[in-house]
Amino acid sequence: MAELSTALIHHPYVPPAGFAAPQPGVFKASTVLFPSVAAMRNFEWKDKTAYTYGLHGTPTTYMLEERLCTLEGGLQCVLVPSGLAAIANVALSLLRTGDEVLIPDNAYGPNKVLAEGELKNWGITHRFFDPMNPQDLAAKISSQTRLAWLEAAGSVTLEFPDLCEMVRVCKARGVLTALDNTWGAGLAFAPFDLTPGVSPALGVDISVHALTKYPSGGGDVLMGSVITRDASLHMKLKLTHMRLGLGVGANDAEAVLRALPSLALRYKAHDEAARELARWCQTRSEFVQVLHPALPDSPGHQHWRAVCQSGPGGAAGLFSVIFHPRYSQAQIDAFCDRLKLFGIGYSWGGPMSLVVPYELASMRSVWPPHLEQGTLVRFSVGLEAVADLQADLHQALQSVLT
Ligand SMILES: *Cc1c(COP(=O)(O)O)cnc(C)c1O
Repeated sequence: MAELSTALIHHPYVPPAGFAAPQPGVFKASTVLFPSVAAMRNFEWKDKTAYTYGLHGTPTTYMLEERLCTLEGGLQCVLVPSGLAAIANVALSLLRTGDEVLIPDNAYGPNKVLAEGELKNWGITHRFFDPMNPQDLAAKISSQTRLAWLEAAGSVTLEFPDLCEMVRVCKARGVLTALDNTWGAGLAFAPFDLTPGVSPALGVDISVHALTKYPSGGGDVLMGSVITRDASLHMKLKLTHMRLGLGVGANDAEAVLRALPSLALRYKAHDEAARELARWCQTRSEFVQVLHPALPDSPGHQHWRAVCQSGPGGAAGLFSVIFHPRYSQAQIDAFCDRLKLFGIGYSWGGPMSLVVPYELASMRSVWPPHLEQGTLVRFSVGLEAVADLQADLHQALQSVLT
């Protein structure tokens, strides 16, 4: 197989007759006309043999689904209006009253909030597990457990879990695994083939991706995907998707289709810049810890090496720092305010670097033993010149913390 970057650019596409442009067309529709009433009754959208209504798919959304399957190594995909909607689509498809879902304690925050809100209201229970301890995951599986979420690296704190072992534990106990694959983006590792070359393939059952981040790349689209290799699992997800009416707009699908050919290039640039800045931060006495899975002393570094270096390799452009406890929250807030190139804002994956201070104690059930005490600030590194970003960090540290 060609490299992913090549495969995404040379992806099969049949243009309209006589118009051999390599870029896919953009089709917009609510209504799709049928040739007859009989056809209207018989056309089937679920297996993609026909178009029936814009909400159920267009040539543009089908094309994007196929390219995302190529990216992540899956076979079926549903598109939803945000990464969070992708998480919700999985939960609502697979869980019913009396079931339990397991969520890593460092999961994307709104995933936990969904469990504490709607899922709880509907009699679906949840337990948080220690992402760095597969035995804790194993111990929390009960006869009610239907689904376990996995995330690599974890949101905000970026610990890299023992993904392979956790997938093995869940498979052995008949628990479905859903990975939030936004960080890996289909490029750092292959979610459905975590140990390439070893057969049978070890992989998650479902991969969820916030396309809002790197696949969009522009900071101007909200979208999510849910990818599987299992046809019956896909059909469950697809039916819930249909019943909830979770369509995506053609212009947004087009924006992601345009951005996919440069995804690998951008990911690599974000990755290299983040590593350089993270290493520079390690030399600064203001920080007691720098969290980035490619740094040898970052939590879970050996698991990152096992999964990411045996696979395609790489890391996202995110890292976090923990400030020395001698600094007050007000000083750290002033540091963030003082930055000129790092915008203060949520999300990541676009061209502009961003910074967010987090109150970690309120986000975790317990303070993780592998994290130093202090205030955490997460950086998402954009596509600006690294030297400029480093100078910006430097001036903000100098002016506020000395
Ligand atoms: C941003 C993000 C999401 C949610 O994506 P939205 O499109 O903003 O809803 C989910 N998971 C992770 C890990 C994210 O970073």
